[in-house]
Amino acid sequence: MKKINIHWFRTDLRINDNPALLKAAENAELLPIYIFDEIKIPNYQQGEASLTWLYKSLQLLNKSLNDRLLILKGNPLQILKELIINYNITGIYWNRNYSPWEIERDTRIKNEIKKLDINCESFNGFLLWEPWEILKNDGTPYKVFTPFYRKGCLGSSTPRTPLPKPEKIVYAKKVLNNFEFNIANNTTNSWQKKILNNALVGEKKATDRLDFFIKNGLNDYKEGRNFPSQDNVSKLAPNLHFGEISPNQIWYTVSKLKNTQNTDHFLSELGWREFSNHLLYHFPHIISENLQKKFNNFPWVNDENSLIKWQKGITGIPLVDAGMRELWQTGSMHNRLRMVVGSFLVKNLLIDWKYGAKWFWNCLFDADIANNTAGWQWIAGCGADAAPYFRVFNPVTQSEKFDKLGTYIKKYIPELINLDHKFLHCPWEAPKSILSNAGVKLGETYPYPIVDLKRSRIKALEAFNTLKSS
Ligand SMILES: Cc1cc2nc3c(=O)[nH]c(=O)nc-3n(C[C@H](O)[C@H](O)[C@H](O)COP(=O)(O)OP(=O)(O)OC[C@H]3O[C@@H](n4cnc5c(N)ncnc54)[C@H](O)[C@@H]3O)c2cc1C
Repeated sequence: MKKINIHWFRTDLRINDNPALLKAAENAELLPIYIFDEIKIPNYQQGEASLTWLYKSLQLLNKSLNDRLLILKGNPLQILKELIINYNITGIYWNRNYSPWEIERDTRIKNEIKKLDINCESFNGFLLWEPWEILKNDGTPYKVFTPFYRKGCLGSSTPRTPLPKPEKIVYAKKVLNNFEFNIANNTTNSWQKKILNNALVGEKKATDRLDFFIKNGLNDYKEGRNFPSQDNVSKLAPNLHFGEISPNQIWYTVSKLKNTQNTDHFLSELGWREFSNHLLYHFPHIISENLQKKFNNFPWVNDENSLIKWQKGITGIPLVDAGMRELWQTGSMHNRLRMVVGSFLVKNLLIDWKYGAKWFWNCLFDADIANNTAGWQWIAGCGADAAPYFRVFNPVTQSEKFDKLGTYIKKYIPELINLDHKFLHCPWEAPKSILSNAGVKLGETYPYPIVDLKRSRIKALEAFNTLKSS
């Protein structure tokens, strides 16, 4: 009987630079599989936006695998055992994931499979450095980004260079499977279909986008990345999350270019991705708990009405609303906006960061448990190397600075399109005549602000001070 190896695709939906796939395709027929494992992270089922991306990405991957990808749904160990009964499996390979539940699941599976005398091996296909390799001199994990990246990562061995795709793949013949899952039968709702329209899904689009970014965005990345109406960022976060491109491919493509402050800054953003995974690995409770325990006593207000207005982008603060509408209309949001809308939710509205994280989780294509959790804890001030709580982003000054002419605001808030940019950042300060000439009627065509920015900032600082005294 012919030997068959399984490659279990997870967040590595690519053929190139895929260490586990390369191993599985060596000296045996290949059975490529994907498993929808609904409980891989408790309380965090795949969000709707990212699920849409995943469906499309799996379809594209299946095409690149000559229609041989076996897509399954259920308990992974049970599924692998059934495959072992139906095929002459000699090896099972995958690239690692880093949430504690996935680690526990994979360790259990590995032990069980090995008992059956089947080779089972995992590889690093998702990170530049393994989280357990980057530690402080005293053996403890880093909690501050700069030393983590500059001393820990850059001072350690260089990341693995990208691998070629398997020279030749011989596919195993598919046998009917009880757990088979047909993506085409799983309809997506109209919102999911709409946001997918402009999404650059799949391995080919990811490499094309990297090329485009290098030619058109990278040479002003350090400054330009702050301006949401400029195309200076890579937009590769969902591709990276699903592994359609590896951080190693990006790292080495960019490292080959002339070293500038832009290339250095861009690579350091990949460093933040490493840092988030490092934090998740070493402090797994951060998904549901504040990393800094003193925040457990924070007097959140959690007003549901305000939360809904924030989610819908009708807070009356144009930059915040533009960000929230971008998210809803595109499944994505520029990083500066993530910080602005996050700060507004947590500090001006005093709503617990976990509500924001859940909304992002459902709406973002790039929803990623490590990056989303670290991003929200950072903005709330309760995470590692966090923005200090007393740093409250002022959405009006942020708007004046990073969207001076209101290009970004006007794109997402057509109600304000005729308003002079001087008042676009704060329509409530505009004289009545200016509003009326622009066709804006506050409270009717566009809302009054749901909070007073100055007063809510003071309230946030008072709430924070209660932590110091408690
Ligand atoms: C509240 C909040 C929530 C966030 N949620 C997520 C999330 O769910 N998924 C996610 O991938 N990113 C998240 N981020 C980080 C960041 O906003 C996005 O990675 C970035 O906007 C993606 O755009 P880009 O691909 O154009 O990034 P670029 O600027 O081109 O950066 C290149 C890559 O570096 C990584 N990166 C960049 N910034 C960060 C960062 N601050 N933290 C971690 N990795 C980073 C991403 O993988 C990104 O694709 C969040 C940030 C905040 C403040």
